[in-house]
Amino acid sequence: MDASLRPHAGPGDLAARSLRQVWHPCTQMKQQAKLPLVALSHGEGPWLVDTDGERYLDAISSWWVNLFGHANPRINAALVDQLGRLEHAMLAGFTHEPVVALSERLSALTGGVLGHAFFASDGASAVEIALKMSFHAWRNGGHGEKREFACVRHGYHGETLGALAVTDVALFRDAYDPLLRHAHVVGSPDARNARDGECAADVARRAAAELEVLLAQREGRIAAVIVEPLVQCAAGMAMHDPVYLRRVRELCDEYGAHMIADEIAVGCGRTGTFFACEQAGVWPDLLTLSKGISGGYLPLSLVLSREAIYDAFYDDDTARGFLHSHSYTGNPLACRAALATLDIFADDDVLARNARRAARLTQALSPLAHDRRARHFRQCGMIWAFDAVLPDEAGAQRDFGRRFAAQARTRGVLLRPIGATVYLMPPYVLEDDTIDWLAAQTLAAFDAAMSQRAEAAA
Ligand SMILES: *Cc1c(COP(=O)(O)O)cnc(C)c1O
Repeated sequence: MDASLRPHAGPGDLAARSLRQVWHPCTQMKQQAKLPLVALSHGEGPWLVDTDGERYLDAISSWWVNLFGHANPRINAALVDQLGRLEHAMLAGFTHEPVVALSERLSALTGGVLGHAFFASDGASAVEIALKMSFHAWRNGGHGEKREFACVRHGYHGETLGALAVTDVALFRDAYDPLLRHAHVVGSPDARNARDGECAADVARRAAAELEVLLAQREGRIAAVIVEPLVQCAAGMAMHDPVYLRRVRELCDEYGAHMIADEIAVGCGRTGTFFACEQAGVWPDLLTLSKGISGGYLPLSLVLSREAIYDAFYDDDTARGFLHSHSYTGNPLACRAALATLDIFADDDVLARNARRAARLTQALSPLAHDRRARHFRQCGMIWAFDAVLPDEAGAQRDFGRRFAAQARTRGVLLRPIGATVYLMPPYVLEDDTIDWLAAQTLAAFDAAMSQRAEAAA
């Protein structure tokens, strides 16, 4: 082993060292101290292997980033090649093949509609860039009064202060609320909100009507509406009818606001098409990508924009330019990982193969559709979710989440519910036997977590 990686004590000590020195994300460290931390040794395809040799199927793609498995030989080879050429250089005044080729290919995937790519490293930064671009484009066009944003109930766009301002998830937002510049929050098109006799498209139209009321009330003030197309993932895999996106597009055109599609989680084939917006037949003015775009290898995010927005900045005056700067923008290694990822999409006919994988996993999980302990079993592309029916008591969701995650882990599957929602978001490499095994473990873990609750209640 490389000397710099050698642990101070045996590898079994890794979790303890981590708890001493590493401040883990999205974690109350005092609670984590009582729970086992999985110390990883390596990854192999969809599997993560810990330092004791135990294997876990990464059924949530390591927070939705991994597309083609861990230590993928094709992505590895591209990165090794790139390491021997250029690891990084500043992108102001310089350019390089990986960033150019990636921009060209993404533009082509939008049919040239979103023809300009601006790069950052994390999703929250891409969201902030899109918000800044929208406001600044309007200002350059003589509409500096358009400086408000609209976002969707329970939407998630990242956790830096600007991104948090358009995020409506109480757990992440409440503590920092006094620091935020508030956005308008409109109703969610979440199909689970259907009233008696309503279908998903009705809910979507009702939510869009609420947006229209806001746009009319704040006419001339709203710079952009930001949405998560088809699935509000962090809200608990809340899915909606594509008609919502068509209505948002029409309303943005009618009231002179930009449409920002945050495809950080739903892009890169996750919903069945490369971009989720394709299923509604619309393109936004700005589109953010991150997470899967580098195959889950390296931090990379980007904002794709329409010609009209790009043109609003194109001028002799420096200050009318988009002067946002970030040290690692367009990092060649991350762009190479993204190009290798796009190569796999093209070479392996991934979207068609995923449609077959999805049909098989949906079938294997179908007992959930009839289980009285579960509600709203749903699927979109390579995302599955259902909601556990829990008592209306404080802590019931959190306790269920912990029980379920522990039960899944005992069975060799990495799953972390969001509230009462259990979801699967596996990488695009599962073979038939693994799909069947994953479904069986998920059902067994749910069964065990629900009977444990019944026992505790008895
Ligand atoms: C994850 C996510 C983000 C934030 O990305 P980070 O890289 O975690 O900052 C933004 N929007 C959506 C829809 C996401 O799922």
